[in-house]
Amino acid sequence: MTELPYSYEAPHSQSLFDRAAAVTPGGVNSPVRAFRAVGGTPRFMVSGKGPYLTDADGREYVDLVCSWGPMILGHSHPEVIEAVQEAVSRGTSFGTPGEGEVALAEEIVARVGPVEQVRLVSSGTEATMSAIRLARGFTGRAKVVKFAGCYHGHVDALLASAGSGLATFALPDTPGVTGAQAGDTIVLPYNDLDAVRAAFRAHPGEIACVITEASPGNMGVVPPLPGFNQGLKDACAADGALYISDEVMTGFRTSRAGWYGVDGVVPDLMTFGKVMGGGFPAAAFGGREDVMAHLAPAGPVYQAGTLSGNPVATAAGLAQLRLLDDAAYARLDAVSEQIRTLVADALTKEGVVHRLQNASNMFSVFFTGADVRTYEDARAQESYRFNAFFHAMLARGVYLPPSSFESWFVSTAHDEQAVQRIADALPAAARAAAEATAA
Ligand code: PLP
Repeated sequence: MTELPYSYEAPHSQSLFDRAAAVTPGGVNSPVRAFRAVGGTPRFMVSGKGPYLTDADGREYVDLVCSWGPMILGHSHPEVIEAVQEAVSRGTSFGTPGEGEVALAEEIVARVGPVEQVRLVSSGTEATMSAIRLARGFTGRAKVVKFAGCYHGHVDALLASAGSGLATFALPDTPGVTGAQAGDTIVLPYNDLDAVRAAFRAHPGEIACVITEASPGNMGVVPPLPGFNQGLKDACAADGALYISDEVMTGFRTSRAGWYGVDGVVPDLMTFGKVMGGGFPAAAFGGREDVMAHLAPAGPVYQAGTLSGNPVATAAGLAQLRLLDDAAYARLDAVSEQIRTLVADALTKEGVVHRLQNASNMFSVFFTGADVRTYEDARAQESYRFNAFFHAMLARGVYLPPSSFESWFVSTAHDEQAVQRIADALPAAARAAAEATAA
């Protein structure tokens, strides 16, 4: 391992990035990975073990991204790897039903009360896209309500005022989505029940569903205010619309049963991804049996996938979920709190105005003096301070999400040694944030 702090240069990563840029738009396969918001060279990772990642220049980082959520047990967990190896040894895809997908579906149904039936897909985007189609097919209505700052994957109809990469790049909407595709989408401010009630009054009997992140993590972490999710559910029920809770990020992370396990509000449909795939492309949507019965081949709403329920992905996901017991969630909560306290203390010591917000073990820091309840609040922060903070942490071996609009993620593998590395990096990073000036 090279000495800390590392050089801000990363020659091997840079040469890989140059090669990538020649053959891939922007050099990456998912925009936020490109470091455009924070600047500098994206680190190309070659391996991961426990709480650590190692990059192409041989430098080791404490990973607070965890593959954007999935690696909740840390990297290369021996039992997950063993399950994957066992599954691979039997073949990689059959295009037929298999026992692994039944077992994974049973595990999801057992954990999440409102999910009576579930359909497996390969990405969170596919899950939300399919849930929306099903809601429209079930209700016979067209309009979809979503909230500014909530990201539900790159579904055409849901890219209006989305968070995540769209927040990072300040893209209001995206070219390539036609007026017809987005025309039935109603975008409302987050945490504003009056706006939701007004939308139902303006469009009675026209709204197929309200989709919301169960607790948003794509504009930074902005939990729902008390009663907000229940209010959504009630407004939907009163009008005959479906309430879709997107738990792609929070599912099996914020508790055994995701955010549902925290707030207990019963959605009509739910979407999952990330943790349930154990680092492989596996996702799902599920919910009320009478709604799911509308899905092909049981019903008329078409949905399909060549690799849906892939045996390797389901083996990884199942192995991971089975290890996520109460002790694991207690560990995640404890380590998250420990890191949050360290970050807050370091920033306070340097006089940096900030807010640390969390939803169970998910958290993020906003460089602002006011509570963040909406996308507008999140955008009002001094993001340039985050960029300086980010690079100072990176140089000291701590890998944060390369944007101030993303959640930080911990794993059960984040031990005392990893937390100490974070603690050691923080004073210099807090100083860098304090000294940063707007470009
Ligand atoms: N929904 C939420 C809440 C997400 O956070 C994400 C991805 O970050 C998605 C949907 C899309 O999932 P995927 O990237 O697997 O398509």
